[in-house]
Amino acid sequence: MTDTPPTAEQLAEDVADLTATVNGLTAQLEETQRLAESLQGQGASPVSNGGGAEQPAAPPLILKLSGEEYDQELAALAIWVEYVLAPAFLNEISSSAPWCERWWEHLPAVARLHALWLAWQELTTPEAGGYTGPSVWARDHLRPTMDELRSPTGPFAACATKPGSANHSPLRQPTVQPLSQSSTSG
Ligand SMILES: [Zn+2]
Repeated sequence: MTDTPPTAEQLAEDVADLTATVNGLTAQLEETQRLAESLQGQGASPVSNGGGAEQPAAPPLILKLSGEEYDQELAALAIWVEYVLAPAFLNEISSSAPWCERWWEHLPAVARLHALWLAWQELTTPEAGGYTGPSVWARDHLRPTMDELRSPTGPFAACATKPGSANHSPLRQPTVQPLSQSSTSG
């Protein structure tokens, strides 16, 4: 701390810095919205149930996508994780709450975080979520997702377990034998 009051020049500089930060965040939010809208547009295939009322387009499930479509969906998810989930909703890393900054290399995390993001998109929409939507999202989606993902036995168990550490060690996923082998073996 200093007793010297900031000069008008310093204040102007601070304001300029803050303005730049706000502009950057605004741009990221706009990018997120744009990506979300374009992805919804791609997935739009209104289903008529014969009664005349059109059902909303099904949300894209990331595990059903491949190639460029998967990359695009992951990029949109990554923006949300970086700018919304991480700063606002992630607790500090500890041995009882590991995390991985390269979460996209853990397929179970991609699946869970994408599902969490879909729920966020629905429940933070006033028409769908109403006034309780964000709270319901936190209770029904955020908490169980984090309980599982950040469990000491979860997919990040071998990654970062201390603040500031940046370990990344994807765990081996359990394997299964194709059904055809089970009938021919033994
Ligand atoms: Zn990792």
